[in-house]
Amino acid sequence: MKDYYAILGVSKDATDEELKKAYRKLAIKYHPDRNQGDKEAEEKFKEINEAYSVLSNPTKRAQYDQFGSVDENGFEGGFTYSSAFDDIFSNLSSMFGDLFGDYGFEDENSARPQRGEDIRINLTIDFKEAVFGAEKQIKINKKKICDACHGTGAEENGIETCSYCKGAGEIIYSQGFLSVRKTCPKCNGTGKIITKKCKNCGGVGYVYEEETLNIKIAQGIDTGNIVRVTGYGNPGLNGGPNGDLYIYIDVKEHEFFKRDGKNIYVEIPISITQAALGTTIKVPTIWGEHELEIPPGTQNGERFIIKHKGVELSGSKGNQIVTVKVEIPKKLTQKQKEILMEFAKESGEELNYKNSVLDKFKNLFK
Ligand SMILES: [Zn+2]
Ligand SMILES: [Zn+2]
Repeated sequence: MKDYYAILGVSKDATDEELKKAYRKLAIKYHPDRNQGDKEAEEKFKEINEAYSVLSNPTKRAQYDQFGSVDENGFEGGFTYSSAFDDIFSNLSSMFGDLFGDYGFEDENSARPQRGEDIRINLTIDFKEAVFGAEKQIKINKKKICDACHGTGAEENGIETCSYCKGAGEIIYSQGFLSVRKTCPKCNGTGKIITKKCKNCGGVGYVYEEETLNIKIAQGIDTGNIVRVTGYGNPGLNGGPNGDLYIYIDVKEHEFFKRDGKNIYVEIPISITQAALGTTIKVPTIWGEHELEIPPGTQNGERFIIKHKGVELSGSKGNQIVTVKVEIPKKLTQKQKEILMEFAKESGEELNYKNSVLDKFKNLFK
């Protein structure tokens, strides 16, 4: 039985947020695009997606926590497993140990309609694309039913009726008073055994094909948002519906504008004379230049709010918050020095008296 929590590296009481974070980190690391041809990474990626698809769904998670496995159709007619069945369960496992192998108790290949798996990809976009929306071209690796075998996974005449279940797809185990129906472990419920695997797909019935899609990114999208494209996941089996495509958005940082939700933060340098005397400066916003009045006596680090110049989301705009940084000149001409000395004198400052600053505070310690 797979430990989905261990696969994602989270504790059993992990919150949705923690799950999502762990999943994203691993999905990025093992994404097939980054690990071309690496079978191990591909397996790992599959496993991570499987674990996340179960644990991110409250119903499935509860079912998994209770039963240790998840049946998409809610255990109908299948193997009912509870703690009371523990003994039988372990007997069965050892009886058919090698046959069950790594399949666990899933019946992926059974003939009933199955919904295709969801596809999850990461998409990094620019700050500007996130703020104003964009059209993006993305590439996804999608499962496609194998043309050569039409999804059976077998060469022509390469299929036999399963001798284990006589083609029924399930077996009934009896032990004491109990009889338990279980999907045939040898044919996984299909009732058929592949004797000659399809060469084109290696027997799995599908191949991966790259598909290019044009995706519309909505205005105001942000890091952590997920775009769902219904029906663009992997194809369903036996007439089942397609899975969905989930695009995990990551927005690159801008060197000048910082964003928090709808608000934009910028830092603007001003000179000491601008700060002291007051002025009007031109400030860049994502919507263009804006004139900002700096009143006389403005302090370093003071904030000014420019209303409705932030990110537009669902019809309303956030603000731009400007923090001014008063820059002290590093080099002065002789003339500037003289003027500043004059300025100090006018202010009554003793520039050469080293303790003049301390004097201001001496009453504090009495
Ligand atoms: Zn094939
Ligand atoms: Zn069988």
